[in-house]
Amino acid sequence: MNKVKTTSEKSLPNNSRIVALLTQLEKINSESLLVEADTARYVTSKILHLAQSQEKTRKEMTAKGSTGVEVILSTLENTRDLQTTLNILSILIELVSVGGGRRACILVSKGGTQTLLQLLLGASKDSPPNEELMVQLHSLLAKIGPKDKKFGVKARINGALNISLNLVKQNLQNHRLILPCLQVLRVYSTNSVNAVSLGKNGVVELMFKIIGPFSKKNTGLMKVALDTLAALLKSKTNARRAVDRGYVQVLLTIYVDWHRHDSRHRHMLIRKGILQCIKSVTNIKLGRKAFIDANGMKILYNTSQDCLAVRTLDPLVNTSSLIMRKCFPKNRLPLPTIKSAFHFQLPVIPTSGPVAQLYSLPPEVDDVVDESDDNDDIETETETETENENEDDKDQHFKNDDIETDIDKLKPKQELGRPIEELKIYEQFFPELAENFQEYDLVSKEPKPFASATNLGGPIVVPTAGDEHPAEANQSVKGIAVKDRSSLQMEEYNKRPCLLDLPKKDHNKDSLQLQNDQKKLLSSCQCLSQEIVKGLDRITLQNTSKNEQYYSTGCLIKKESKTSLTTPTCNKPCQHVSSCGSGLFEGPSVQLGKLCCTGVDPEEEEDSSSHSSGEQVLLEVPDMLPLHDPDLYIEIVKNTKSVPEYSEVAYPDYFGHIPPPFKEPILERPYGVQRTKIAQDIERLIHQNDIIDRVVYDLDNSSCSVPEEGDILKFNSKFESGNLRKVIQIRKNEYDLILNSDINSNHYHQWFYFEVSGMKTGIGYRFNIINCEKSNSQFNYGMQPLMYSVQEALNARPWWSRVGTDICYYKNHFSRSSIAAGGQKGKSYYTITFTVSFPHKDDVCYFAYHYPYTYSTLKMHLQKLESMHNPQQIYFREDVLCETLAGNSCPLVTITATPESNYYEHVCQFRNRPYVFLSARVHPGETNASWVMKGTLEYLMSSSPAAQSLRESYIFKIVPMLNPDGVINGNHRCSLSGEDLNRQWQNPNPDLHPTIYHAKGLLQYMATIKRLPLVYCDYHGHSRKKNVFMYGCSIKETMWHTNVSAASCDVIEDLGYRALPKILSQTAPAFCMSSCSFVVEKSKESTARVVVWREIGVQRSYTMESTLCGCDQGKYKGLQIGTRELEEMGAKFCVGLLRLKRLTSPLEHNLPSSLLDIENELIESSCKVTSPTTYVLDEDEPRFLEEVDYSAESNDEQDVELVDNAGDYEPSIQEDALSDSEATRIQLP
Ligand SMILES: [Zn+2]
Repeated sequence: MNKVKTTSEKSLPNNSRIVALLTQLEKINSESLLVEADTARYVTSKILHLAQSQEKTRKEMTAKGSTGVEVILSTLENTRDLQTTLNILSILIELVSVGGGRRACILVSKGGTQTLLQLLLGASKDSPPNEELMVQLHSLLAKIGPKDKKFGVKARINGALNISLNLVKQNLQNHRLILPCLQVLRVYSTNSVNAVSLGKNGVVELMFKIIGPFSKKNTGLMKVALDTLAALLKSKTNARRAVDRGYVQVLLTIYVDWHRHDSRHRHMLIRKGILQCIKSVTNIKLGRKAFIDANGMKILYNTSQDCLAVRTLDPLVNTSSLIMRKCFPKNRLPLPTIKSAFHFQLPVIPTSGPVAQLYSLPPEVDDVVDESDDNDDIETETETETENENEDDKDQHFKNDDIETDIDKLKPKQELGRPIEELKIYEQFFPELAENFQEYDLVSKEPKPFASATNLGGPIVVPTAGDEHPAEANQSVKGIAVKDRSSLQMEEYNKRPCLLDLPKKDHNKDSLQLQNDQKKLLSSCQCLSQEIVKGLDRITLQNTSKNEQYYSTGCLIKKESKTSLTTPTCNKPCQHVSSCGSGLFEGPSVQLGKLCCTGVDPEEEEDSSSHSSGEQVLLEVPDMLPLHDPDLYIEIVKNTKSVPEYSEVAYPDYFGHIPPPFKEPILERPYGVQRTKIAQDIERLIHQNDIIDRVVYDLDNSSCSVPEEGDILKFNSKFESGNLRKVIQIRKNEYDLILNSDINSNHYHQWFYFEVSGMKTGIGYRFNIINCEKSNSQFNYGMQPLMYSVQEALNARPWWSRVGTDICYYKNHFSRSSIAAGGQKGKSYYTITFTVSFPHKDDVCYFAYHYPYTYSTLKMHLQKLESMHNPQQIYFREDVLCETLAGNSCPLVTITATPESNYYEHVCQFRNRPYVFLSARVHPGETNASWVMKGTLEYLMSSSPAAQSLRESYIFKIVPMLNPDGVINGNHRCSLSGEDLNRQWQNPNPDLHPTIYHAKGLLQYMATIKRLPLVYCDYHGHSRKKNVFMYGCSIKETMWHTNVSAASCDVIEDLGYRALPKILSQTAPAFCMSSCSFVVEKSKESTARVVVWREIGVQRSYTMESTLCGCDQGKYKGLQIGTRELEEMGAKFCVGLLRLKRLTSPLEHNLPSSLLDIENELIESSCKVTSPTTYVLDEDEPRFLEEVDYSAESNDEQDVELVDNAGDYEPSIQEDALSDSEATRIQLP
């Protein structure tokens, strides 16, 4: 009960009339019943008059410090006089009618809800209750209810639910009375317990008495009834009741009726209200079935097609789309199993974890789909109070994450996992520590300029390539000469189109068949070549009948031949073919078939080479090393071991990539892409006859035949890092693509790399990759996939470029097996869709998730770097850290400066340089990490004075590819062991995770010899954020983050971990400090960063994440990221290390102080920690209007319908309605 308070309204003018009246009213209250009712009536009517006529009065009464509302409420409680009560209710209605809900909140905060509910209870005892009083009371409750989070509970406790319900039941024809009652019922119903309780009392049936077919009368009532019904039907019990009574059909009929008659779209809100009811009822499986049975898909599809033209009807289209997607029958992926199409027998089967689970599944189990959708109706609805109970569980995922809260667990603890004797094996990787350079000739003071090698254009001796190259072949091996980063010497490319067909060692294959195929290939090549040499612009790949024959016979699937088409061109006579082929591909140890591989014919070649070498002299760009060498690449590919035994080479990897000379802005998302794409998907169900449904590529079924129709695209990805599993033609120019799972795994699909040929121009081809798993993607935020056109490459534009329109990433109707979804049932896959128009007819094009960077490319780059470096200046070693499971070598690179002389002082300085340890590409799908690493390596090997200074400062130990097998086999996340290697650092298994085991061993060895690296950094790519940023490790920031304030105060922590990211944010344009985080999360406990920090004891241990998309700050703001920017990042990282050196106290590393120049700049002054970093969330993107639809999952009601609300005229009511029980479930941004 409100206590009577004295009015001390200092903030109000003394002469205020309202103040006087309120004082008078207060006096009446204190004198209670003794005063005549007339006085109270008179005073309240005066106040009402003022409140009605003057906004000033309303302001004064609800101003801060005013007790006006209290006085009024107090009067309401005390008075027994009906007229006074009505006056007061009118005053309150006046007050809350304006002011945007703030005044309603004041009323709630002063206990208004309780007072009004009590009044309602009292009034209901009259028989019949006073109509005017009920109207006023309900009107007021409808206004303040949404502002009171406990309104639903209070109403139930006060017994108000049935009072309102019965009023409606008994006065169905009295619209003036039932309108406010329905409004209040709507608010009650947002509480799930109330909804169930009201449902039991027949409220659902009651609503169906009010709503009905199109009528211009009582639309307000209809609207409120629909809103109430929609809220009620969110209760599963009510939804079931509605389904049982056939109301789904009724709702659809009503909807169609309004759709038909509301031709001027004046009743959009009513139409939307009907859809909201359908949307609620289809949350349950029975509802979806009833919807399908009532032909709901077709009805909503057709009606929304009608609405498309009218922008104001968007909410209808969007809601219809939500419903249709939810009801769309879940399909199974058209695969025999979701396990990878390739199998690799592991040396040891892990005893637990996902791989163990995979291996223990009985073979007959259907892992593609389970009864994922079947259990949503089984659970009975809890009728207990759930409000606010879970509010404290928001941070649920931190529970038991004791690494984040337990300071003793968090603190770095150097532990030697392995005995010193065992670590001795790593001594061999540190010859620099024993090297005395006595045999070196280091007297030369004038080392040759590093770049000179690029000018030679002559043969480059490649140590590990096939030993006996014919001289002729070698002569053609030249680096790619580049004028600047924008123009490429086209002749170089033109010379080297090549047929790369390395027939598989396939025992099933008939050798005669092979020969025949090759004969055909060769003859058609000749034919092609004649076309090619006519001129660059006229390169056509398939413009003779012979070519077509070639294409069809070359098609491996049809003829069960492994001779697949990977090349458009071959422009050399056959004798060249054979010599070249034998020279390049018939190495002593590698059995590869003949290849046609060469350039243009002799005269042409001379022309172009003289031309090109002339240009080359002029074209020297410092630090731009021609690391690409197609012939060397082929050599390396031969030694690369893949599980599918790839015998082909993708053109982009062969030709190489240079960054295009133009900017590639982040794509602006056009309005309505998602819903258009979804509508097209729904059409598959509506117009099933239009769907071709033809398998055109299938790894699981090698006998799959592709019809020889001219307008079917041909797909292929049987090359390094390729991972296409199946392609189905859906419509004439639309294809569904399915990616292969990581080997020994049944999921992780995101990375893609495949080839397309047989295209026409002037056609938009739609590609849908239908088995993606992440819930959101940068494809929704302006990222485009990459395409490489071979014709473009032949036309001197050998680059991957961002392409595609109508790009969108959304949840689709293919259900995910709980086996692959971590036990969660009812999950769906996601689709990436993009549409591409090809630049050339009959081109060969490649698509990739990001710029490919194969293992063979890395090997080639390393060999080129080694072959070109000047050993007098640069100390470079490439060792084999270990072999991978598939038998590929994992390179370990050492780079530092060769000592100036072999005098003791110089050698000593050489040996005492601090180490920097870098690694990359533990996640195969993060190819950007390799490009950053390439930038780092090139910078470290460059001749610039800064690079020399850097080499003189540090010894770099680099493992540029921690997961070669994953990269080679087109995995996205895992190694061949089917595990994420960056979760194995705590306890790597030497047999299953050799690269991690030995990389860790190296670091452990460095710890035992007291040569811990100054910096450890693991390069990664981030799929859901923009810019480049770092994760580091800080106890304090982790504690801050988890709010363990008491403990964190005592921790003294060196802020050195912030120095490098800070420097990078000042020097590297793509780098963004505010995205960095230094929190040690439980989930990252076994990553390289955390283990190297905590176990090995490296304070500056980082993960550097580069965006796959682009930047939203700095110089590259608004641009998609390219290899130029990524490589620059890698170089800037090195520059940052040089600056770090100046900041670093020499004492910290037990180095003679003379060896490091100390600057007065202290770390503390240059990078103060002002605020703790935020938790590393997976996403940092704002929601866009066209929200990715989460509600398509039946058991997931967390859809925030921004789309729906956007077109609603009553947004405040909508939001208000959420403030009851929904409030805990919905988090608006
Ligand atoms: Zn990663």
